Amino acid sequence: MSVKKSVFKTGDSMLHFRKLDSENLKLKITGKNEKDWISVSNRFWKSDEDIDRLANQVELPAKEIKKIGCEIEDNGGISEYYSTSLQKITADLVSCKVVIHTQIVGEQAHKVLSPKSIEINCINCSKKFKIDISEKIDLLKDIIFKGSKLEKLLPQALKSIHPPCVDGKDHIFSTDNTEESGYIDYSLLYVIDVLKPTERFDERIAKPRLIHLVNKTIPRAKKVVIYGWVVVNPKTRDICIIANNIEPEETEITNFSLTDEDKKNFSKYFVDEKYALADQINPNIVGEKRKVAKEAVVDVLHSPLTIPDVNGKHIRGGLRVVFIGDTGEAKSSIARYLVGGEPADPSPYVFGNLVIGETSKRTGILYTIDVDKKIIIWGALPLSDTGLVIIDGMQQLHNEDIGQMRESLSSQIIKVDKYVKGQALARTRIIATMNPNKIMGMYTYPVQAISDNRIFFKTPDVRRWDLFITFNKEDVDGKEVIYRKTGEPQISSQVFEQHVNWAWSRKVEQIQYAEESKEKIREFSLKIVEKYEVGDIPVVVGKQISDILCRFSVARACRAHSTDMTHENVIVKEEHVVSAYKFLTGVYDSLS
Ligand SMILES: [Zn+2]
Repeated sequence: MSVKKSVFKTGDSMLHFRKLDSENLKLKITGKNEKDWISVSNRFWKSDEDIDRLANQVELPAKEIKKIGCEIEDNGGISEYYSTSLQKITADLVSCKVVIHTQIVGEQAHKVLSPKSIEINCINCSKKFKIDISEKIDLLKDIIFKGSKLEKLLPQALKSIHPPCVDGKDHIFSTDNTEESGYIDYSLLYVIDVLKPTERFDERIAKPRLIHLVNKTIPRAKKVVIYGWVVVNPKTRDICIIANNIEPEETEITNFSLTDEDKKNFSKYFVDEKYALADQINPNIVGEKRKVAKEAVVDVLHSPLTIPDVNGKHIRGGLRVVFIGDTGEAKSSIARYLVGGEPADPSPYVFGNLVIGETSKRTGILYTIDVDKKIIIWGALPLSDTGLVIIDGMQQLHNEDIGQMRESLSSQIIKVDKYVKGQALARTRIIATMNPNKIMGMYTYPVQAISDNRIFFKTPDVRRWDLFITFNKEDVDGKEVIYRKTGEPQISSQVFEQHVNWAWSRKVEQIQYAEESKEKIREFSLKIVEKYEVGDIPVVVGKQISDILCRFSVARACRAHSTDMTHENVIVKEEHVVSAYKFLTGVYDSLS
């Protein structure tokens, strides 16, 4: 057994770690007896996130936790940063270096803070020193909070230089003996913890924390990892963070990994669709027509973000579906089932964020601008980037929102280019519900309800959606409701959720079409265009249909857990294309 002993000095006390083997280590705080050594799981050594767990295990006071977090050098995978969440940032962590996974809900376009670095020639010993301002938290604090000029801060900065000057005193400089280079970008970020969205969307973004971001520009992806120092603004006494590094989170599902248990469950419940997946979605809603909507929901839930088309070109994979129809016909109940359900009809699932059309002016579906503070406040679409958003009551969106959405739906990027500037990615799966202008029964063909809505007056707006499903009062008869036939969910919500996570974490290179599938997609696309592309029905448009068929075919392959031994790749087989084709044409038939 190899014994590795490490001692870390942390100011007035010492923390001792004794690594016994790869599995265990012990920890002791100076002044305590040998018997007070505490065993700690090896997980501590693997990731800085586990410092949290360590703190719990050894019941250290917060100040000691801070020391562990701050002072331990990279040793067996521990970073010098203390991994925490915004919620846990308290006065105890002030001056500590932290790493936080967070989400940007608001931002103020960057300006220039100060020079990036400054080179100083000591007049006394003629040595050269380069001070990187973005690494000096004391300087940054004074520049940001007190508006101090850099040259005034230099004497203080020189004190920190080791070794000191020849006479043992501080080095000496004169202002004409310094050289500044580069500039430090400076932005303000308003951030929240990345949480499972169990609360209402607008409540969750109500109390953001402030981050002063230096030396980095704001990424377009709004889920980010932030590295910085916890500081106190001397004027307001608010605890905030000065960050000098920021990285976008790769996907919604970070660190997704498959366990053997998952593989067993997926093979049991999903392969060849042995179980009716539609039964997972709001079992209280019955009727064959409503089952169509639920099938579409299962497809949306199993649509990967980016997929290849039949020629290998990368296209949007995340599905966008509109439920349009009469009120009281369960559009909302089905859609909201994915985001916690309604109070009277709760759901075990929280797959995304909910936007309610009538309140969108306040929260912003894409963004709003705080005119006084010149802050962009991001809305549900960018904040659901790589995830899912439910827009309930889309007919109530404000014209401004509709206009903004028009552009971002095609590019999947939101660009704000007014007196404040910013960009955000919005690669979002969407289920939108809307009421038609008249009751459905008044239209000769259901499809007319779509083009009769101001949101879809323009044909290009229709093309940005993959499927429209209509809800008509006459769809479900009373008998069907009384003798409900919809099955209870056969799959536990945990397993179903994990399978959705699996689908969402599939990368574009993991999605493979069998040769005959590509041929089928081409063949069926042509068939659809020939049969359904009629002048006044704007839903089926030739150029888009092949992409739409690809998206639904991939989703059908995902939901059938069509994979290989690795469970990593998605294999799109002919049967999935056939299934997608049948489903789509069934819906198209119902529209006209
Ligand atoms: Zn000197």
